[in-house]
Amino acid sequence: MTDKDKKVRVRFAPSPTGRLHVGGARTAIYNWAFAKATGGDFILRIEDTDPERSTPENTQVILNAMNWLGLEWDEGPLVGGSTGPYFQTQRMDTYRDALERLKERGAVYPCFCTKEELDAKREAAEKEHGGYAGYDRTCRSLDPAEAQARIDAGEAHVWRLKVPLDHGPIEFVDAVYGPMSFPADVMDDMIVVRSDGTPTYNFAVVCDDANMGITHVIRGDDHLSNTPRQILIYEALGFDIPTFAHLSMILGPDGKKLSKRHGAASVEEFRDRGYLPDAMVNFLALLGWSLDGETTIITRDVLCKEFSLDRITKKDAVFDETKLDWMNGVYIREMPAEAWVEAATPWLIRAFCGCSADQEPTDEEAVLGAADIEVRPEWYESLYPLVAERLVRLDEIPEKLAFMFWGDEVKTLDEKSVQKVLLKEGARADEALRACREVLADPSLAWEAEPLQEACRALCEPLDIKPKFLFQPLRVAVCGNMVSPPLFESIELLPREDILARIDNVYNQVFGA
Ligand code: GLU
Repeated sequence: MTDKDKKVRVRFAPSPTGRLHVGGARTAIYNWAFAKATGGDFILRIEDTDPERSTPENTQVILNAMNWLGLEWDEGPLVGGSTGPYFQTQRMDTYRDALERLKERGAVYPCFCTKEELDAKREAAEKEHGGYAGYDRTCRSLDPAEAQARIDAGEAHVWRLKVPLDHGPIEFVDAVYGPMSFPADVMDDMIVVRSDGTPTYNFAVVCDDANMGITHVIRGDDHLSNTPRQILIYEALGFDIPTFAHLSMILGPDGKKLSKRHGAASVEEFRDRGYLPDAMVNFLALLGWSLDGETTIITRDVLCKEFSLDRITKKDAVFDETKLDWMNGVYIREMPAEAWVEAATPWLIRAFCGCSADQEPTDEEAVLGAADIEVRPEWYESLYPLVAERLVRLDEIPEKLAFMFWGDEVKTLDEKSVQKVLLKEGARADEALRACREVLADPSLAWEAEPLQEACRALCEPLDIKPKFLFQPLRVAVCGNMVSPPLFESIELLPREDILARIDNVYNQVFGA
């Protein structure tokens, strides 16, 4: 079987140290899409060897973010698989086996140099030769019998890779960056296993990738400098070297690496600000990859069919939030109302509770809100056409739809709207409101947007008033301001008594009873 015929196996290998950064999310998306496009397997491996930061909570954060993005893994935590376990801390025996293999192949040696000795050597080298070129290989020439005796006597030691002295440059063809070459003679004999028996980062990654049969390592280019070291480890183990694809950085609009300074930088933050997972996947996929250089809306299905490594660019990508907003709006407009309600639920609950986007309802309020959605999902679905056209992010919902939850009173009456519409000189807003109220109170009228609007419009002629001067006051009386969703479509969704009560309420406030 040639390499080309081998089933593709890729992995996303996050270190669970906190939230999932958008750079990590893009790496995950590329691995996932590449597996889908090639009929391969996508593996999730948790690199949890940092005991301080790799907590179960942090792992859960990553799993949640992956689930939210809809990046299902074929093997990994929760789903298992034939090459598990999928947590590095549970794979210690495999690292021990790999060390045995390296010993058998004469590719490692024990090193007894203490930290103090190494520090002193480094200091001296820095003074004398203008730089430390790495470990000076003192223990490499120890007599094996003597080394064994010292091990048997319990002397602390690490295991170092015996980098071949005649190794030419370390070369590989990166699927993104092309041919790469690193001189091997500057690689020192790196530690593979520490004195406490734990594997070093590069050693663990290579063991895992080899044991999991990974064919393509797609990861951020912050790991590019690890690659030549990892290749030396593959060679020492006698394992096939996978194809590497390193991804360029994601920059903020100021040209600096995207970080918290630029606002949101983690998947969770974008989720909490009301972006849709589909839009997020589409947007992140295009940070460094393109279908044809121009298509911007690329659904998951297309991505999973068309994704290829040869269309990844080595240029750094710039995170353009304006484009993300635009894209999110497109996805909102195109989704079914039912899916919208599901995605928008946290913000619909806030609207129900009278909270703003960044206010958390109390638990009891939230339960009531959720129950309301469950009891009358169609009513919530009919809110969708009211806002879909202009919604950029879901977190705009509480503000835009608050008035739909006010019941029989106008909870926030915008002062500017009162001045510009209701109290506008010569506009006869009081008359307009009284007339509209009378029409809306007529029980023989069907409570539907069109007949209601027509019946109100029919007032224009007898009153000699322009439609605008009739509808604007009504809008302010029902919604509290002049910029709300389509008026009669909104009225239709609310009970007649509430609408009449709001008109009375505002009328009395502004014009006196
Ligand atoms: N655990 C590493 C990280 O989170 C990734 C290692 C790799 O992809 O090789 O940066």
